[in-house]
Amino acid sequence: VTFAAIPEFVVAATGIDPLRYFTADEIREWRAFREPHYVAGHAMFAVDVALYVWLVFFHGSRRIKGACDRLAERWLPANRHGVLLRVMDRVWRDRTWVGALLFVLAFTTLFALTSLPKQAYFLLVYDKRYGLSTYTVPRFIRDFSVGTLQGIVLLSVLMFSLYALMRRVDRWWIPLGIVAAAFSVFSGVIDPYREVLQFEDKPLADGPARTAVSSVLSRAHVENAGIYVRNASRVTKAGDALFVGQGPSRRIIIYDNLLAALTPRELAVVIGHEAGHVGESRLWPSIATAAVMFALIFALDRILRAMARRPRFGLSGHADPAGLPVAFLLVTVFIEVAEPFSSAYTRSLERAADAFGIEITADPDAFVSMLVKVARLDKVDVDPPAWIRWEFTHPTVLDRIAFGESKKKEAGDPINRPPPGTSLPSPTAIDGGRAP
Ligand SMILES: [Zn+2]
Repeated sequence: VTFAAIPEFVVAATGIDPLRYFTADEIREWRAFREPHYVAGHAMFAVDVALYVWLVFFHGSRRIKGACDRLAERWLPANRHGVLLRVMDRVWRDRTWVGALLFVLAFTTLFALTSLPKQAYFLLVYDKRYGLSTYTVPRFIRDFSVGTLQGIVLLSVLMFSLYALMRRVDRWWIPLGIVAAAFSVFSGVIDPYREVLQFEDKPLADGPARTAVSSVLSRAHVENAGIYVRNASRVTKAGDALFVGQGPSRRIIIYDNLLAALTPRELAVVIGHEAGHVGESRLWPSIATAAVMFALIFALDRILRAMARRPRFGLSGHADPAGLPVAFLLVTVFIEVAEPFSSAYTRSLERAADAFGIEITADPDAFVSMLVKVARLDKVDVDPPAWIRWEFTHPTVLDRIAFGESKKKEAGDPINRPPPGTSLPSPTAIDGGRAP
C-alpha cells in the first residue's frame, strides 16, 4: 500500500485530512516503521501454533516428557527419602512428580523463550534504528531475564498445581473454573506490582502537572488514586499513561516521556480519559470472562480425555502432563479467534473514555493537540491498513482526532456551550490561567 493512495480514502472516511496535523514524510515513516511489527505479531502466532502442533501431534511433548522422567529417575529415584519428598509423594500420589515438574519447567521455558528473538531484534535493533527504543544490551538482558524468570516460576507453579488437581479430582474443571474466574475478576489488584522489578514509579511532584491531574480526578470523583511517574525513558522514547490496580492498589502511572511532552491541559485530558476507564461497568465483562474460562477449561477436559483414549497421542491418561501443550494450543487459538470481537469491544470502551475525558475537561482542543503529540512521540501509524485495523485496541489516531474535532465544533456552537455556573470547569482553571 503506498501512502499516495491513502489520504483521499481517509478524508472520505473520517472527514479529516491527516496533512493538517502531520507531514507526509511523518505519515510515511511511521507506517514503514509499524509494518514489520504487524507482520511479526502474526508470525509469532504462527510460530507458537507450529510449536504446539509439533509437541501435540508429532510426539514432541512425549519425547521431552520421557527425557524428563529418565532424568528424574536418576536424580531422585523412588527409594530416596526425606520429609519434603514424602510430602510431595503424598500430594502427587507417587514419585512421578519429579519428572512432571521437570517437564512443566522445560515446557514453560520453551514457551517463554519463543518470544526472545523477536523482542531482541525489535528492542535492540529495529526500534532503536527508528529512535524509539533506548534499550542497551545489558538492560535488555536484565529486563528479559527477570521477566522471563518471573513468568517461568509463576506458570510452572500454576501448571504443576493444575496437574496435581487433575490427578486427584475427577471433575477438576469445576474447582479450577471457580478459582480461574475469581482470579480473573480480582487479578487487577496485583497489577501495580507486576512491573516493580523493571521500573521505578515515583509519586508525581507538586507543580502545575500535579494540580491539573488532581483537579481532573476530583471532578471525575476518582478518589484515593495515587499518581505516579514511571521512569520509562530508560528503555523507550514512547509516552503512555495507565490506570492500574483495583481498590486499595488503584493508581495512575504516567510515563516520564509523556509528562515531559505534554502541557498541563493536555495531561489533564489524558487523565480524564483514564478516569473514564475507572467508571466502566465491570459486572458483565466479569461474568463473560468467567463463562469463557469455564467453557475453555471444560473443553480442555473433554479434549484431553478424548486424546488419552487414542494411543497415537501417547498420553497415559487425561492427567498426563505431556498433554500440557494442548491447553496452550487451545488458549492461543481461542485468543486469535476472539481478537476481532474483544478488540471491537475495547475500541468502544476507548471511544467512551475519550468522550469522558473531553467532557470532564471541557477541552477538545487539548485532546486533539495531545493526540498529535503522542502520535509523534510513539511514531503511531495514524491510519493503519485495513488488514490490521480490526485488531487495534484503540480507534485509530485519525478517528480520534475526528472525534475531537467534532466535539470542538459542538463546543463552538453557542447552543451547545454549557451555561455559566454549570459544574464543567473552564479549561483555564487547569493550567493556571492560560487561554485555551
Ligand atoms: Zn484508554
